[in-house]
Amino acid sequence: MVAPMDALLEARGLTRRYGRKQALRGVGFALSAGEVLGLLGPNGAGKSTCLGILAGVLAPSAGQVLIGGADMARSPLRAKRRLGYLPEQPPLYPEMRVDEFLRHCARLRRIPPGAIARAVARSLRLCGLAEVRRRLLGKLSKGYRQRAGLAAALIHEPELVILDEPTDGLDPVQIREVRALIAELGERCAVIVSSHALAEVQASCRRVIVLHDGRMLHDGPLNAPRALRLRLARPPQTAALRRLAAVATVTEAAPDAETGLYSVTLADGATAEQIATAAVGAGWGLLELAPEQTDIERIFFQAIGMEMPA
Ligand code: ATP
Repeated sequence: MVAPMDALLEARGLTRRYGRKQALRGVGFALSAGEVLGLLGPNGAGKSTCLGILAGVLAPSAGQVLIGGADMARSPLRAKRRLGYLPEQPPLYPEMRVDEFLRHCARLRRIPPGAIARAVARSLRLCGLAEVRRRLLGKLSKGYRQRAGLAAALIHEPELVILDEPTDGLDPVQIREVRALIAELGERCAVIVSSHALAEVQASCRRVIVLHDGRMLHDGPLNAPRALRLRLARPPQTAALRRLAAVATVTEAAPDAETGLYSVTLADGATAEQIATAAVGAGWGLLELAPEQTDIERIFFQAIGMEMPA
């Protein structure tokens, strides 16, 4: 694989064994600034193992991680300087107060003493922790503990943020807040978010990697190509549909039965609205135009080789 020139992260042939268990089998990809990547896979697929290796807290059995060109194995301090990592269970000291903890993290990150107060205030604000900054970590709710872990991961303003199941165990309000935070982070850093929930990845990410049994089964953008189900009362020749600029491909559901039902994929940059306008304008009697299935479901079930659930 050739990494793009501006790759912030490069993972090459990552493999990891736990005794006889092969948890990761040759995972490789590159990530550029500004990308929000979802790492999707069922329980046990290898997501946490992969993220732990990318974050430099777990050694690969084979393979290489480069962050901003710095090799994680050879120059771990240089590689880790540019990344923030939120593990599945963030290590928090229950007897510390939130702001004390963040000051501690800032010192560990070697932020100069004169800049620590500003860094802590910024992280507290970004993660919505200002009102609980004097509370003991051990007394915080799961949602606030998660935010404290995130604030620690962001204290040194990393360019790459790695979040392992950041919304797991949170209530719907907290999930919405964390998603908003991921969107905000995506404006200024590259982000990798792992999840076993399709909706989570759909909500936060523009690119998805599917892991299954330690293998990378898919790596591609989300939302493209977009498959639509189109039903027409007065269906034209299929060729007429194909000629529409908004249409990339057309398949008839049952070519001989004249059902007027088609599977249509949108051309790059086109919208469903353009197809609807064209169908109405041509007098084809538009009855239905709807997504076939969400992109993420199609990608996931195709990647792991399973039929889509009904
Ligand atoms: P989950 O969504 O459940 O967190 P995951 O996709 O993050 O799963 P990993 O935690 O990376 O998957 O685990 C991948 C495989 O490696 C699993 O089969 C798991 O049981 C195994 N595994 C993980 N950590 C260890 C360990 N320390 N010792 C032995 N096996 C392990």
